Amino acid sequence: MDLPQIESVASPRSRDSLPPWRDDAAWLAGGTWLFSEPQPALRSLVDLSAMAWPDLEPSASGLRIAATCTIAALEAFRSPADWPAAGLFGQCANALLGSFKIWNMATVGGNVCLSLPAAPMLALTVALDGVAWLWQPDGGERFLPMADFTVGPQRNSLRPGELLRAIDLPASGLRRRAALRQASLTTLGRSAALLIATLDESGGFALTITASTIRPMHLAWDSPPSSDELDARIQALLAETWFDDVHGTPAWRRHMTRRLAAKLHQELLA
Ligand SMILES: Cc1cc2nc3c(=O)[nH]c(=O)nc-3n(C[C@H](O)[C@H](O)[C@H](O)COP(=O)(O)OP(=O)(O)OC[C@H]3O[C@@H](n4cnc5c(N)ncnc54)[C@H](O)[C@@H]3O)c2cc1C
Repeated sequence: MDLPQIESVASPRSRDSLPPWRDDAAWLAGGTWLFSEPQPALRSLVDLSAMAWPDLEPSASGLRIAATCTIAALEAFRSPADWPAAGLFGQCANALLGSFKIWNMATVGGNVCLSLPAAPMLALTVALDGVAWLWQPDGGERFLPMADFTVGPQRNSLRPGELLRAIDLPASGLRRRAALRQASLTTLGRSAALLIATLDESGGFALTITASTIRPMHLAWDSPPSSDELDARIQALLAETWFDDVHGTPAWRRHMTRRLAAKLHQELLA
């Protein structure tokens, strides 16, 4: 939709040319959410597409994903053979239920920064121990574990004027075995529960729960838990952790989370 109240759109090409931050501005990435509903508080957009950051930068230490990398580009990435967890890229892309038009415009950064409980790029980057690289409006920068990025539905740890530049996935995360399970109320519905489990070579096991919870929950063990231990950790999550909207009640999401976690446990530890 048109956003008729917008008075200015900046298209900086480098960090030096970013305009001074204003509270009625928003970073514009793919625009698939920004242009999907009225934005009465906004007067100004800062379009990130001219920054021309490389989408994906693999190295010995891992993979840097630019905030402006599209879901389609991430899905198309051909990973080294010793990064089995990169198989999650396509699965997480498919968990975003949009047409090819959305896939080709929506960015990893936009998905993460919108911080919906059903954001599959949050699930991916938390599960693989991603670290957010943030640019601060005073010219500084900081790094934040993705597990600490989101604080609630559409609420995150970004401070006013901060920009997500990229997310770094460490090679140690990409080398893990990984599996994903998803549940929705309807066949093409938004994720009501989206879980990723990973297992490393030394037996470290982790479960990341998203979509059914108000923010990603990352549960980790140094050695594989029994199925009862895993279930007990999920049952111990506070009642207010479970998300409630038209895509599923908290009780049903909790039930599905326990079922999907048991299946993931069986798949990775069988
Ligand atoms: C049909 C359809 C289906 C969808 N399905 C899903 C779904 O299943 N799950 C889901 O999570 N979302 C879904 N969405 C919502 C949205 O399209 C996606 O979350 C998408 O990934 C947002 O990315 P974008 O690049 O288009 O972000 P934009 O719309 O450009 O921006 C989204 C928000 O993030 C901020 N932002 C963007 N980039 C940065 C950055 N680098 N640093 C700081 N802030 C930034 C923007 O200011 C804005 O507030 C859907 C949308 C549609 C239209």
